[in-house]
Amino acid sequence: MDIKELWVNCLSEIELGISKANFTTWFKNTSIIKEDAGTLYIGVPNEFVRDWLYNKFNKLILKTLISHEESIRSVEYVIQKHENVNKNNDSEVIKQITNINKELPLNDLYINRDDNLNPKYNFNSFVVGPFNELAYAVAQAIITNPGKNYNPFFVYGGTGLGKTHMIQAIGNIIKTNYPNKKVYYVSLERFAIDYINSIQNKNPNSFKEKYRKYDVIIMDDIQFISGKDKTQEELFHLFNTLYENNKQIIFSSDKHPNFIQGLEDRLQSRFASGMTVQIVEPDYESRVAIIKAKFEQTNCIVSDDVVSYLASALEGNIRELEGSLNTIICQSQLKNKSLGLVEVKTLIKNNIKPKKNVAIKDIVKIIADQYGISEEIIYEKTRRKEIVRARQVAMYILREDFNISYPLIGQKLGGRDHTTVIHSHLKIKDDLKTDPSLLQEIEKIRIMFK
Ligand code: ADP
Ligand code: MG
Repeated sequence: MDIKELWVNCLSEIELGISKANFTTWFKNTSIIKEDAGTLYIGVPNEFVRDWLYNKFNKLILKTLISHEESIRSVEYVIQKHENVNKNNDSEVIKQITNINKELPLNDLYINRDDNLNPKYNFNSFVVGPFNELAYAVAQAIITNPGKNYNPFFVYGGTGLGKTHMIQAIGNIIKTNYPNKKVYYVSLERFAIDYINSIQNKNPNSFKEKYRKYDVIIMDDIQFISGKDKTQEELFHLFNTLYENNKQIIFSSDKHPNFIQGLEDRLQSRFASGMTVQIVEPDYESRVAIIKAKFEQTNCIVSDDVVSYLASALEGNIRELEGSLNTIICQSQLKNKSLGLVEVKTLIKNNIKPKKNVAIKDIVKIIADQYGISEEIIYEKTRRKEIVRARQVAMYILREDFNISYPLIGQKLGGRDHTTVIHSHLKIKDDLKTDPSLLQEIEKIRIMFK
Protein backbone atom coordinates (compact mmCIF):
# COMPACT_ATOMS: atom_id res chain seq x y z
CA MET A 1 0.00 0.00 0.00
CA ASP A 2 1.25 3.47 -0.87
CA ILE A 3 0.37 5.30 2.34
CA LYS A 4 1.03 8.77 0.92
CA GLU A 5 -1.41 8.16 -1.85
CA LEU A 6 -3.86 6.61 0.59
CA TRP A 7 -3.81 9.70 2.77
CA VAL A 8 -4.15 12.07 -0.20
CA ASN A 9 -7.13 10.09 -1.45
CA CYS A 10 -8.75 10.14 1.95
CA LEU A 11 -8.16 13.85 2.38
CA SER A 12 -9.81 14.62 -0.92
CA GLU A 13 -12.79 12.51 0.11
CA ILE A 14 -13.03 14.06 3.58
CA GLU A 15 -12.82 17.52 2.02
CA LEU A 16 -15.99 16.84 0.06
CA GLY A 17 -17.93 15.99 3.19
CA ILE A 18 -17.06 18.80 5.60
CA SER A 19 -16.99 22.59 5.48
CA LYS A 20 -14.05 24.40 3.94
CA ALA A 21 -13.24 26.07 7.25
CA ASN A 22 -13.17 22.76 9.05
CA PHE A 23 -11.00 21.18 6.44
CA THR A 24 -8.48 24.01 6.35
CA THR A 25 -8.22 24.19 10.11
CA TRP A 26 -7.91 20.55 10.95
CA PHE A 27 -6.65 18.70 7.93
CA LYS A 28 -4.51 21.09 5.89
CA ASN A 29 -1.36 20.62 7.97
CA THR A 30 -1.54 16.92 8.48
CA SER A 31 0.89 14.49 6.92
CA ILE A 32 1.35 10.78 6.81
CA ILE A 33 4.17 9.29 8.85
CA LYS A 34 3.95 5.53 8.64
CA GLU A 35 1.78 2.47 8.80
CA ASP A 36 2.48 -0.25 11.31
CA ALA A 37 0.40 -3.37 11.93
CA GLY A 38 -2.81 -1.78 10.81
CA THR A 39 -2.23 1.51 12.62
CA LEU A 40 -1.76 4.61 10.53
CA TYR A 41 0.36 7.36 12.11
CA ILE A 42 -0.65 10.84 11.06
CA GLY A 43 1.44 13.90 11.76
CA VAL A 44 -0.37 16.93 13.14
CA PRO A 45 1.00 20.40 13.92
CA ASN A 46 -0.04 20.73 17.57
CA GLU A 47 -2.00 19.35 20.51
CA PHE A 48 -5.12 21.23 19.60
CA VAL A 49 -5.34 19.63 16.23
CA ARG A 50 -4.42 16.24 17.63
CA ASP A 51 -7.18 16.32 20.25
CA TRP A 52 -9.64 17.76 17.87
CA LEU A 53 -9.05 15.18 15.18
CA TYR A 54 -9.23 12.47 17.77
CA ASN A 55 -12.41 13.70 19.42
CA LYS A 56 -14.30 14.98 16.48
CA PHE A 57 -13.08 13.33 13.31
CA ASN A 58 -11.55 10.02 14.30
CA LYS A 59 -14.57 8.05 13.20
CA LEU A 60 -14.80 9.79 9.83
CA ILE A 61 -11.07 9.44 9.23
CA LEU A 62 -11.04 5.79 10.11
CA LYS A 63 -14.11 5.03 8.06
CA THR A 64 -12.68 6.79 5.03
CA LEU A 65 -9.34 5.05 5.42
CA ILE A 66 -10.93 1.63 5.74
CA SER A 67 -13.02 2.22 2.65
CA HIS A 68 -9.74 2.61 0.73
CA GLU A 69 -7.64 0.10 2.62
CA GLU A 70 -9.43 -2.49 4.66
CA SER A 71 -6.39 -3.58 6.64
CA ILE A 72 -6.35 -0.27 8.54
CA ARG A 73 -7.56 -0.75 12.12
CA SER A 74 -6.71 2.43 13.96
CA VAL A 75 -5.18 5.85 13.63
CA GLU A 76 -2.67 7.63 15.87
CA TYR A 77 -2.05 11.35 15.74
CA VAL A 78 1.51 12.42 16.34
CA ILE A 79 2.59 16.00 16.93
CA GLN A 80 5.22 17.10 14.47
CA LYS A 81 6.73 20.53 14.86
CA HIS A 82 7.34 22.32 11.59
CA GLU A 83 9.30 25.53 11.19
CA ASN A 84 6.78 27.10 8.95
CA VAL A 85 3.65 26.63 10.98
CA ASN A 86 1.26 29.34 10.10
CA LYS A 87 1.13 31.82 12.96
CA ASN A 88 -2.54 32.46 12.53
CA ASN A 89 -3.34 28.85 12.80
CA ASP A 90 -3.76 28.66 16.56
CA SER A 91 -6.17 31.54 16.76
CA GLU A 92 -8.12 29.96 13.92
CA VAL A 93 -8.14 26.71 15.88
CA ILE A 94 -9.47 28.39 19.01
CA LYS A 95 -12.18 30.08 17.01
CA GLN A 96 -13.24 26.73 15.63
CA ILE A 97 -13.32 25.14 19.06
CA THR A 98 -15.88 27.60 20.23
CA ASN A 99 -17.86 27.30 17.02
CA ILE A 100 -18.27 23.59 16.71
CA ASN A 101 -19.99 21.33 19.12
CA LYS A 102 -17.52 18.83 20.32
CA GLU A 103 -18.37 15.17 20.42
CA LEU A 104 -17.35 12.90 23.23
CA PRO A 105 -13.93 11.37 22.94
CA LEU A 106 -14.20 8.24 20.89
CA ASN A 107 -11.72 5.96 22.54
CA ASP A 108 -13.85 3.28 21.05
CA LEU A 109 -12.11 2.33 17.91
CA TYR A 110 -9.67 -0.23 19.17
CA ILE A 111 -11.25 -3.12 17.43
CA ASN A 112 -9.60 -6.48 17.93
CA ARG A 113 -8.30 -7.76 14.60
CA ASP A 114 -8.92 -11.41 15.33
CA ASP A 115 -12.53 -11.26 16.35
CA ASN A 116 -13.67 -7.74 15.34
CA LEU A 117 -14.92 -7.12 18.85
CA ASN A 118 -14.76 -3.65 20.30
CA PRO A 119 -14.03 -3.79 24.04
CA LYS A 120 -16.05 -0.65 24.68
CA TYR A 121 -19.21 -2.70 24.32
CA ASN A 122 -19.91 -4.34 27.65
CA PHE A 123 -22.80 -4.62 30.06
CA ASN A 124 -21.37 -2.30 32.75
CA SER A 125 -22.73 0.78 31.10
CA PHE A 126 -25.71 -0.97 29.55
CA VAL A 127 -29.10 0.13 30.83
CA VAL A 128 -31.71 -2.60 31.08
CA GLY A 129 -35.40 -1.71 31.05
CA PRO A 130 -38.68 -3.12 29.77
CA PHE A 131 -37.64 -2.21 26.22
CA ASN A 132 -34.72 -4.64 26.15
CA GLU A 133 -34.96 -6.84 29.25
CA LEU A 134 -35.99 -9.99 27.45
CA ALA A 135 -33.08 -9.72 25.04
CA TYR A 136 -30.83 -9.00 28.00
CA ALA A 137 -32.06 -12.09 29.86
CA VAL A 138 -31.43 -14.25 26.81
CA ALA A 139 -27.97 -12.73 26.49
CA GLN A 140 -27.19 -13.67 30.08
CA ALA A 141 -28.42 -17.23 29.54
CA ILE A 142 -26.20 -17.55 26.48
CA ILE A 143 -23.20 -16.27 28.38
CA THR A 144 -23.78 -18.90 31.07
CA ASN A 145 -23.87 -21.67 28.56
CA PRO A 146 -22.89 -20.74 25.01
CA GLY A 147 -24.33 -22.98 22.32
CA LYS A 148 -26.68 -24.77 24.68
CA ASN A 149 -29.39 -22.28 25.50
CA TYR A 150 -31.20 -20.31 22.86
CA ASN A 151 -29.55 -21.18 19.62
CA PRO A 152 -29.68 -19.22 17.40
CA PHE A 153 -30.37 -15.98 19.19
CA PHE A 154 -32.03 -13.56 16.80
CA VAL A 155 -32.36 -10.03 18.11
CA TYR A 156 -34.16 -7.45 16.02
CA GLY A 157 -35.33 -3.87 16.29
CA GLY A 158 -34.98 -0.39 14.82
CA THR A 159 -31.71 1.41 14.37
CA GLY A 160 -29.83 2.82 17.35
CA LEU A 161 -31.60 0.69 19.96
CA GLY A 162 -28.56 -1.22 21.14
CA LYS A 163 -28.43 -4.39 19.03
CA THR A 164 -24.77 -4.09 18.12
CA HIS A 165 -23.92 -3.08 21.67
CA MET A 166 -25.71 -6.11 23.08
CA ILE A 167 -24.36 -8.75 20.72
CA GLN A 168 -20.83 -7.40 20.93
CA ALA A 169 -21.05 -7.39 24.72
CA ILE A 170 -22.06 -11.05 24.63
CA GLY A 171 -18.99 -11.77 22.51
CA ASN A 172 -16.69 -9.81 24.81
CA ILE A 173 -17.90 -11.60 27.90
CA ILE A 174 -17.74 -15.06 26.37
CA LYS A 175 -14.22 -14.25 25.25
CA THR A 176 -13.22 -13.35 28.81
CA ASN A 177 -15.06 -16.17 30.54
CA TYR A 178 -14.10 -18.92 28.10
CA PRO A 179 -10.60 -18.19 26.79
CA ASN A 180 -10.70 -21.37 24.73
CA LYS A 181 -13.77 -20.42 22.77
CA LYS A 182 -13.19 -18.73 19.46
CA VAL A 183 -15.58 -15.83 19.07
CA TYR A 184 -16.08 -13.95 15.83
CA TYR A 185 -18.15 -10.86 15.10
CA VAL A 186 -18.94 -9.98 11.51
CA SER A 187 -21.43 -7.78 9.75
CA LEU A 188 -23.46 -9.49 7.07
CA GLU A 189 -21.97 -7.12 4.54
CA ARG A 190 -18.45 -8.09 5.53
CA PHE A 191 -19.41 -11.75 5.42
CA ALA A 192 -20.78 -11.32 1.90
CA ILE A 193 -17.61 -9.55 0.77
CA ASP A 194 -15.49 -12.31 2.28
CA TYR A 195 -17.50 -14.84 0.37
CA ILE A 196 -17.25 -12.99 -2.93
CA ASN A 197 -13.51 -12.53 -2.48
CA SER A 198 -13.06 -16.23 -1.84
CA ILE A 199 -14.85 -17.00 -5.10
CA GLN A 200 -12.86 -14.43 -7.02
CA ASN A 201 -9.64 -15.77 -5.59
CA LYS A 202 -10.80 -19.25 -6.52
CA ASN A 203 -10.46 -20.33 -2.93
CA PRO A 204 -13.93 -20.99 -1.57
CA ASN A 205 -12.55 -23.54 0.85
CA SER A 206 -10.55 -21.00 2.79
CA PHE A 207 -13.81 -19.13 3.38
CA LYS A 208 -15.62 -22.27 4.48
CA GLU A 209 -12.81 -23.27 6.81
CA LYS A 210 -12.50 -19.84 8.31
CA TYR A 211 -16.12 -19.59 9.31
CA ARG A 212 -16.50 -23.14 10.45
CA LYS A 213 -13.77 -22.90 13.03
CA TYR A 214 -15.56 -20.56 15.43
CA ASP A 215 -17.40 -21.51 18.59
CA VAL A 216 -19.46 -18.35 18.63
CA ILE A 217 -20.45 -16.45 15.50
CA ILE A 218 -22.10 -13.06 15.85
CA MET A 219 -23.55 -11.71 12.65
CA ASP A 220 -24.78 -8.14 12.64
CA ASP A 221 -27.35 -6.50 10.36
CA ILE A 222 -28.43 -9.70 8.71
CA GLN A 223 -31.25 -7.84 6.91
CA PHE A 224 -28.67 -6.93 4.26
CA ILE A 225 -28.83 -10.50 3.04
CA SER A 226 -31.83 -9.49 0.90
CA GLY A 227 -31.10 -10.25 -2.71
CA LYS A 228 -27.74 -11.91 -2.03
CA ASP A 229 -28.73 -15.39 -3.14
CA LYS A 230 -25.30 -17.01 -3.17
CA THR A 231 -24.48 -15.60 0.26
CA GLN A 232 -27.75 -17.02 1.55
CA GLU A 233 -26.86 -20.41 0.22
CA GLU A 234 -23.45 -20.26 1.88
CA LEU A 235 -24.91 -19.00 5.15
CA PHE A 236 -27.44 -21.82 5.13
CA HIS A 237 -24.72 -24.46 5.01
CA LEU A 238 -22.58 -22.64 7.53
CA PHE A 239 -25.53 -22.36 9.85
CA ASN A 240 -26.24 -26.07 9.69
CA THR A 241 -22.66 -27.05 10.36
CA LEU A 242 -22.30 -24.70 13.30
CA TYR A 243 -25.68 -25.58 14.70
CA GLU A 244 -25.12 -29.31 14.53
CA ASN A 245 -21.89 -28.83 16.44
CA ASN A 246 -23.57 -26.81 19.17
CA LYS A 247 -21.82 -23.62 18.24
CA GLN A 248 -23.54 -20.47 19.40
CA ILE A 249 -25.00 -18.36 16.61
CA ILE A 250 -26.21 -14.82 17.19
CA PHE A 251 -27.91 -12.62 14.62
CA SER A 252 -29.11 -9.06 14.64
CA SER A 253 -31.46 -7.49 12.15
CA ASP A 254 -33.61 -4.41 11.84
CA LYS A 255 -36.63 -6.63 11.22
CA HIS A 256 -38.11 -9.97 12.16
CA PRO A 257 -36.94 -12.85 9.92
CA ASN A 258 -40.42 -13.08 8.41
CA PHE A 259 -40.05 -9.53 7.13
CA ILE A 260 -36.61 -9.72 5.58
CA GLN A 261 -37.38 -9.37 1.92
CA GLY A 262 -36.30 -12.11 -0.39
CA LEU A 263 -35.10 -14.33 2.41
CA GLU A 264 -35.27 -18.01 1.51
CA ASP A 265 -37.84 -19.96 3.51
CA ARG A 266 -35.31 -22.41 4.83
CA LEU A 267 -33.16 -19.61 6.24
CA GLN A 268 -36.17 -17.79 7.57
CA SER A 269 -37.22 -20.83 9.53
CA ARG A 270 -33.66 -21.45 10.75
CA PHE A 271 -33.28 -17.87 11.94
CA ALA A 272 -36.49 -18.07 13.89
CA SER A 273 -35.88 -21.57 15.22
CA GLY A 274 -34.12 -20.53 18.41
CA MET A 275 -34.95 -17.43 20.38
CA THR A 276 -36.22 -14.39 18.52
CA VAL A 277 -36.47 -11.22 20.57
CA GLN A 278 -37.32 -7.67 19.70
CA ILE A 279 -35.73 -4.57 21.23
CA VAL A 280 -38.08 -1.61 21.09
CA GLU A 281 -37.64 2.09 21.76
CA PRO A 282 -36.87 2.82 25.40
CA ASP A 283 -39.76 3.96 27.57
CA TYR A 284 -39.59 7.14 29.66
CA GLU A 285 -38.08 5.55 32.78
CA SER A 286 -35.46 3.75 30.76
CA ARG A 287 -34.59 7.01 29.01
CA VAL A 288 -34.12 8.63 32.41
CA ALA A 289 -31.77 5.81 33.41
CA ILE A 290 -29.81 6.02 30.16
CA ILE A 291 -29.47 9.80 30.42
CA LYS A 292 -28.32 9.61 34.01
CA ALA A 293 -25.80 6.90 33.20
CA LYS A 294 -24.30 8.87 30.31
CA PHE A 295 -23.95 12.00 32.43
CA GLU A 296 -22.38 10.06 35.25
CA GLN A 297 -19.87 8.41 32.94
CA THR A 298 -18.64 11.80 31.82
CA ASN A 299 -18.80 13.39 35.28
CA CYS A 300 -21.26 15.91 34.00
CA ILE A 301 -23.58 17.23 36.67
CA VAL A 302 -27.12 18.18 35.73
CA SER A 303 -30.22 18.80 37.80
CA ASP A 304 -33.15 16.37 37.95
CA ASP A 305 -35.40 18.74 36.04
CA VAL A 306 -32.92 18.75 33.16
CA VAL A 307 -32.91 14.94 33.16
CA SER A 308 -36.73 14.77 33.19
CA TYR A 309 -36.94 17.36 30.45
CA LEU A 310 -34.51 15.46 28.26
CA ALA A 311 -36.23 12.14 28.88
CA SER A 312 -39.56 13.51 27.74
CA ALA A 313 -38.21 15.58 24.85
CA LEU A 314 -35.81 13.04 23.38
CA GLU A 315 -37.90 10.11 22.32
CA GLY A 316 -36.80 7.49 19.87
CA ASN A 317 -33.48 5.82 19.46
CA ILE A 318 -30.54 5.79 21.85
CA ARG A 319 -27.97 6.80 19.28
CA GLU A 320 -29.79 10.07 18.62
CA LEU A 321 -30.29 10.57 22.31
CA GLU A 322 -26.55 10.18 22.85
CA GLY A 323 -25.95 12.81 20.17
CA SER A 324 -27.98 15.36 22.08
CA LEU A 325 -26.35 14.43 25.37
CA ASN A 326 -22.91 14.83 23.83
CA THR A 327 -23.77 18.36 22.78
CA ILE A 328 -24.79 19.18 26.33
CA ILE A 329 -21.79 17.49 27.91
CA CYS A 330 -19.38 19.30 25.62
CA GLN A 331 -20.95 22.70 26.22
CA SER A 332 -20.85 22.06 29.91
CA GLN A 333 -17.17 21.13 29.67
CA LEU A 334 -16.33 24.12 27.53
CA LYS A 335 -18.08 26.51 29.89
CA ASN A 336 -16.80 24.56 32.85
CA LYS A 337 -20.14 24.67 34.64
CA SER A 338 -23.34 22.75 34.98
CA LEU A 339 -26.02 23.86 32.49
CA GLY A 340 -29.50 24.96 33.53
CA LEU A 341 -32.78 23.98 31.94
CA VAL A 342 -33.02 27.06 29.73
CA GLU A 343 -29.53 26.60 28.36
CA VAL A 344 -30.19 22.93 27.69
CA LYS A 345 -33.44 23.68 25.90
CA THR A 346 -31.74 26.22 23.67
CA LEU A 347 -28.89 23.87 22.93
CA ILE A 348 -30.93 20.95 21.74
CA LYS A 349 -33.98 22.63 20.28
CA ASN A 350 -32.98 21.58 16.78
CA ASN A 351 -32.63 17.94 17.80
CA ILE A 352 -36.21 17.56 18.88
CA LYS A 353 -38.42 16.11 16.22
CA PRO A 354 -42.11 16.78 16.07
CA LYS A 355 -43.86 13.72 17.49
CA LYS A 356 -44.93 11.11 14.97
CA ASN A 357 -48.60 11.71 14.77
CA VAL A 358 -50.16 10.13 11.76
CA ALA A 359 -53.94 10.12 11.71
CA ILE A 360 -55.60 6.74 11.28
CA LYS A 361 -57.54 8.19 8.38
CA ASP A 362 -54.35 9.07 6.53
CA ILE A 363 -52.99 5.58 7.04
CA VAL A 364 -56.16 4.03 5.68
CA LYS A 365 -56.04 6.36 2.70
CA ILE A 366 -52.49 5.32 1.84
CA ILE A 367 -53.40 1.65 2.08
CA ALA A 368 -56.54 2.08 -0.02
CA ASP A 369 -54.48 3.91 -2.65
CA GLN A 370 -51.99 1.04 -2.75
CA TYR A 371 -54.83 -1.39 -3.44
CA GLY A 372 -56.38 0.95 -5.97
CA ILE A 373 -59.70 1.14 -4.14
CA SER A 374 -61.52 4.07 -2.62
CA GLU A 375 -60.90 4.89 0.98
CA GLU A 376 -64.59 4.93 1.88
CA ILE A 377 -65.13 1.36 0.85
CA ILE A 378 -62.76 0.21 3.62
CA TYR A 379 -65.05 1.75 6.22
CA GLU A 380 -68.16 0.16 4.69
CA LYS A 381 -69.53 -3.35 5.12
CA THR A 382 -68.54 -4.67 1.70
CA ARG A 383 -67.34 -8.27 1.86
CA ARG A 384 -65.79 -8.41 -1.58
CA LYS A 385 -62.61 -10.43 -1.37
CA GLU A 386 -60.15 -7.73 -2.45
CA ILE A 387 -61.76 -5.18 -0.12
CA VAL A 388 -61.64 -7.56 2.82
CA ARG A 389 -57.97 -8.14 2.19
CA ALA A 390 -57.17 -4.39 2.07
CA ARG A 391 -59.21 -3.85 5.24
CA GLN A 392 -57.42 -6.65 7.05
CA VAL A 393 -54.05 -5.32 5.98
CA ALA A 394 -55.05 -1.88 7.26
CA MET A 395 -55.98 -3.37 10.62
CA TYR A 396 -52.79 -5.34 10.72
CA ILE A 397 -50.60 -2.34 9.98
CA LEU A 398 -52.43 -0.10 12.44
CA ARG A 399 -51.84 -2.64 15.14
CA GLU A 400 -48.39 -3.87 14.23
CA ASP A 401 -46.68 -0.66 13.11
CA PHE A 402 -48.61 2.01 14.96
CA ASN A 403 -49.48 0.10 18.08
CA ILE A 404 -53.09 1.25 18.07
CA SER A 405 -55.45 -0.67 20.32
CA TYR A 406 -57.84 -3.23 18.85
CA PRO A 407 -60.99 -1.43 20.04
CA LEU A 408 -59.85 1.91 18.63
CA ILE A 409 -59.00 0.35 15.27
CA GLY A 410 -62.45 -1.27 15.21
CA GLN A 411 -64.14 1.97 16.09
CA LYS A 412 -62.25 4.01 13.47
CA LEU A 413 -62.71 1.45 10.73
CA GLY A 414 -66.44 1.69 10.40
CA GLY A 415 -67.46 0.78 13.96
CA ARG A 416 -66.37 -2.85 13.95
CA ASP A 417 -66.07 -5.07 16.97
CA HIS A 418 -62.58 -5.47 18.44
CA THR A 419 -62.76 -9.26 17.96
CA THR A 420 -63.01 -8.68 14.22
CA VAL A 421 -59.82 -6.65 14.40
CA ILE A 422 -58.03 -9.32 16.39
CA HIS A 423 -59.15 -11.92 13.88
CA SER A 424 -57.88 -9.82 10.95
CA HIS A 425 -54.57 -9.17 12.66
CA LEU A 426 -54.00 -12.87 13.28
CA LYS A 427 -55.19 -13.82 9.83
CA ILE A 428 -52.65 -11.55 8.12
CA LYS A 429 -49.94 -12.66 10.51
CA ASP A 430 -50.69 -16.24 9.61
CA ASP A 431 -50.95 -15.62 5.88
CA LEU A 432 -47.61 -13.87 5.95
CA LYS A 433 -45.98 -17.12 6.90
CA THR A 434 -47.00 -18.77 3.68
CA ASP A 435 -47.58 -15.96 1.23
CA PRO A 436 -44.52 -14.03 0.06
CA SER A 437 -46.57 -11.80 -2.22
CA LEU A 438 -48.51 -10.55 0.79
CA LEU A 439 -45.25 -9.68 2.45
CA GLN A 440 -44.27 -7.68 -0.59
CA GLU A 441 -47.60 -5.84 -0.55
CA ILE A 442 -47.11 -4.89 3.07
CA GLU A 443 -43.50 -3.85 2.64
CA LYS A 444 -44.58 -1.60 -0.23
CA ILE A 445 -47.09 0.05 2.06
CA ARG A 446 -44.55 0.40 4.85
CA ILE A 447 -42.23 2.34 2.59
CA MET A 448 -44.95 5.00 2.35
CA PHE A 449 -44.71 5.60 6.08
CA LYS A 450 -40.93 5.85 6.25
P1 ADP B 1 -28.09 -0.65 16.83
O1 ADP B 1 -27.02 -1.66 16.55
O2 ADP B 1 -29.36 -1.25 17.31
O3 ADP B 1 -28.33 0.29 15.69
P2 ADP B 1 -26.17 0.34 18.76
O4 ADP B 1 -25.86 -0.91 19.48
O5 ADP B 1 -25.17 0.83 17.79
O6 ADP B 1 -27.59 0.25 18.06
O7 ADP B 1 -26.46 1.46 19.87
C1 ADP B 1 -26.47 2.85 19.56
C2 ADP B 1 -25.81 3.60 20.69
O8 ADP B 1 -26.60 3.54 21.88
C3 ADP B 1 -24.45 3.03 21.08
O9 ADP B 1 -23.56 4.09 21.37
C4 ADP B 1 -24.73 2.21 22.30
O10 ADP B 1 -23.60 2.11 23.14
C5 ADP B 1 -25.87 2.97 22.96
N1 ADP B 1 -26.78 2.08 23.69
C6 ADP B 1 -27.64 1.21 23.13
N2 ADP B 1 -28.36 0.55 24.06
C7 ADP B 1 -27.96 1.03 25.24
C8 ADP B 1 -28.34 0.76 26.60
N3 ADP B 1 -29.29 -0.15 26.87
N4 ADP B 1 -27.72 1.43 27.58
C9 ADP B 1 -26.77 2.34 27.28
N5 ADP B 1 -26.39 2.67 26.03
C10 ADP B 1 -26.96 2.02 25.02
MG1 MG C 1 -25.96 -1.98 14.78
